[in-house]
Amino acid sequence: MIKIIMVPVGLLQANCYIVHDDTRNDAVLIDPGDDEESIRVELLKARLSPKAILLTHGHFDHCNAAKAFAADGAKIYMHNADEIMTRTRLNMSELTGGPFNSFTPDVLLNGGETIEECGMSFKVIHTPGHTAGSVCYITEDKLFTGDTLFYLGVGRTDLPTGNYRELEHSVRDILFKLKGDFAVFPGHGELTALSFEKEHNMLAEI
Ligand SMILES: [Zn+2]
Ligand SMILES: [Zn+2]
Repeated sequence: MIKIIMVPVGLLQANCYIVHDDTRNDAVLIDPGDDEESIRVELLKARLSPKAILLTHGHFDHCNAAKAFAADGAKIYMHNADEIMTRTRLNMSELTGGPFNSFTPDVLLNGGETIEECGMSFKVIHTPGHTAGSVCYITEDKLFTGDTLFYLGVGRTDLPTGNYRELEHSVRDILFKLKGDFAVFPGHGELTALSFEKEHNMLAEI
């Protein structure tokens, strides 16, 4: 069975998710953000070692610990359109003034791939709008939405490569059109359900 540990990290409290098959001792990290230590504590408590890092986008609050876990051998996946953020100011680390840990992704995604890691499969959906390279990941009935979709909200589009029209399209025409219901694990704030957001989100169809 897939288990998920949520770890809110850093000044912006981005949600890092430790995702694992409970019959194994390896784990996937979704968005290891700006607090390596808290993530390590949770990994130790659960006796898990990270094997893969799936980034929803390139903002520092979602990826500033990627370099540290990559040094342990975890493979980094991210969309190619956000790769530029791994080595430029576009990752917005200046928002909190902290240093940014540049890193090199191992796999650049385009969307549509299925990633097999730690006995689980993750489908990659390209959902641009918050950033050009924002993606969501689906495993079973769980949807990781990064800063694309939140509980009763959506991500901001005023940062570099953000685009409100694209975000609207990604949420309404891609996420809200997915068949079936999903538990939504957003990049900030509380968990929600796709069926709930389809009805109550600011981008819900009226
Ligand atoms: Zn962001
Ligand atoms: Zn964020």
